[in-house]
Amino acid sequence: MKEVTMEKIVNMCKQYGFVFPGSDIYDGFANTWDFGPVGVELKNNVKKAWWKRFVQEDKSTYGVDAGILMNPRVWEASGHVASFSDPKMDCKKCKQRFRADNMIEEFSKGEVAAEGMTNEEMEKYIEDNNIKCPHCGSHEWSEIKQFKLMFETSRGTVEGSKDTVYLRPETCQGEYVNFLNVQRTTRAKIPFAIAQIGKSFRNEITPGNFLFRTIEFEQMELQMFCKDSDSMNIYNNYKERALNFVNDIGLPSDKLRFHDHDKLAHYAKAACDIQYKFPIGWEELNGIHHRGTWDLSRHSEFSGKSLEYLDPETNEKYIPTVIEYSIGADRLTLALLCEAFEEQELENGETREVMHFNPAIAPYKCAILPLIKKNHTDKATEVYNMLSKYFMCTYDDSGSIGKRYRRNDAIGTPYSITIDDETVNNNTVTIRDRDTMEQITLPLDEVVNYINEKILF
Ligand code: ATP
Repeated sequence: MKEVTMEKIVNMCKQYGFVFPGSDIYDGFANTWDFGPVGVELKNNVKKAWWKRFVQEDKSTYGVDAGILMNPRVWEASGHVASFSDPKMDCKKCKQRFRADNMIEEFSKGEVAAEGMTNEEMEKYIEDNNIKCPHCGSHEWSEIKQFKLMFETSRGTVEGSKDTVYLRPETCQGEYVNFLNVQRTTRAKIPFAIAQIGKSFRNEITPGNFLFRTIEFEQMELQMFCKDSDSMNIYNNYKERALNFVNDIGLPSDKLRFHDHDKLAHYAKAACDIQYKFPIGWEELNGIHHRGTWDLSRHSEFSGKSLEYLDPETNEKYIPTVIEYSIGADRLTLALLCEAFEEQELENGETREVMHFNPAIAPYKCAILPLIKKNHTDKATEVYNMLSKYFMCTYDDSGSIGKRYRRNDAIGTPYSITIDDETVNNNTVTIRDRDTMEQITLPLDEVVNYINEKILF
């Protein structure tokens, strides 16, 4: 099997319409990406699978869709205005900018946790170990400074008067500020969770590695509000559920691991990432954090509104503890692309590119392929119109049937349905399986059930 590199994935994505460079005709705009016709289906399916697992199938979880722009006081309460920054340093020779903590972690192969170090401690480590610029090899560093990660914009109501507002750097604040609204309207009893999927923005110092780290990305997050005495059980339960989710959706167990944090925020009791073995190495895929009562206490303090919960059975009043589970939709989509991709050598000596997606997240569930355009177009259109009411289908009538199979292998379509004389005369179709390349014949009226069973997640 050939090695999967990030470069191959980027090229595949561009060639087949998964992901294009952002603002492409203007020579791009660094580290921004646009999802194309195939990619948007893939990412939507990833988001739908997450929502189904964690909201639809969990009667204690409620969804919201909060605004990207929030009252700036939210970001004061959350601590972002004061301290959402990363330590950056510049190479004085080539002027490239780096994250000091990442450099130390990479240099020490993960042995040193730079997260908890002060700027001075990091400078000393870099000096003592003579860490060189990865770009030009020199050792002439600027001093380390904190670099603000929140994007600012302004909202002017009267000419000349401007208020600074922020593009949210995480979605979870929209869940915290709606805690009371959701609890009152749903009459939810603790423990319950609020979930949301949406865009976040971070002015990252070192964006890169394709979709892995970008300045605009989507997060799938939920906050579970609970009693402190139940919180560690709930935390451990989300670790397992989060792992099972990424495993079930297509990432194998031997490329997934827990990474428990040693250094914790002052309010936190525990924190853990799930890492996936990307082509660039083991990297964070998602986080599960025990956040204590920090978030709701701070919002109570800054908003002046009590966010206490009144337990209807015990009459006890308390600020709930929060367990957060957060995963990047784009980062997970990248992991799934890397995992699914194979350049497969066939028995006849040819190579085919294939994306072995779990059928539940495949961009198109089936391809409708009229064998001979002039004979089978009408029937193929009828089949397309019938099946596309149930799931995404793609229609392809150009080129040999072999080439059409290959194109659909490359975009991960699990079932290719050939429309031929048998379909016209007897209402039967041939269905080719993407992974085994084997074909079966089915009556047309059984196709919806056949595919629906395979794509259930
Ligand atoms: P990292 O250490 O990689 O910067 P983080 O610990 O800051 O990530 P969180 O704030 O916990 O990340 O965000 C939760 C999830 O959101 C991450 O696990 C990741 O999947 C995703 N994510 C965070 N930052 C980015 C980014 N710049 N681009 C794409 N996805 C991101």
